[in-house]
Amino acid sequence: MLKHEKFKGIVIKTYPWKEADKIIIFITPLGKIKAFAPGIRKITSKKLGKLELFSYVYFMLESRKITLIKQVELIYAYKALRSNLHLFSRGCYLLELFNNLLEEREVNYEIFSLLKNGLKILEKENNLDLILRIIEYKLISYLGYKPITNCCVVCKSNLNLKYFNPILGGILCSSCLRKNNLYSVFIYPETLNLLNLFAKADLNIKIKIEEEILNNLKEILQKYIQNCSPKKFNSLDFERNLKSV
Ligand SMILES: [Zn+2]
Repeated sequence: MLKHEKFKGIVIKTYPWKEADKIIIFITPLGKIKAFAPGIRKITSKKLGKLELFSYVYFMLESRKITLIKQVELIYAYKALRSNLHLFSRGCYLLELFNNLLEEREVNYEIFSLLKNGLKILEKENNLDLILRIIEYKLISYLGYKPITNCCVVCKSNLNLKYFNPILGGILCSSCLRKNNLYSVFIYPETLNLLNLFAKADLNIKIKIEEEILNNLKEILQKYIQNCSPKKFNSLDFERNLKSV
């Protein structure tokens, strides 16, 4: 007997398959789901346009040898993210971040909400880079990689905390730096305060941060994420290229 299941989820990746089909990857409250959309690339397909990147949809799956997408209903399109290049590049980075770090069918409602609400906040166009950093921090924390930021990750001291080591997953004091110099990055006290704040902060947070601190925060979180993720990020390069234009 064919098994039908109904889900809600956000399209995070699509790629062509054979002549007229596409493979679609969703983030849902039940984890990452990959399915086939047969015939979707034909002009006459009713699903065309509903299964674009960022589309938040209800969808029905039919499980045969492969999993097919049978019905799609659009809930929200995140149109603002498609019409502005800066929002689009940051939105794509988030989709790639979630795709790289999540396993298939790993139930986690908090992670689904983080993506859904994170994209919504990006649409408001305020504090874009700070929002990305908070989402990164929360995502790695929900996945069990929360960095140690309240004491030295090696000796547990809370004095002279001046470095972050992405391999050890936390901050280092000056005395422990010598033995763990490789890959360690200098961390400003303000950056450390922000990391501690992110554990409690919601995505609507309104604070002004100097560019130097924001850059330090970005370097630390992205080195740590690269270390947690088995895959390389393409959209980080895209974002970088965009800024150098
Ligand atoms: Zn130490």
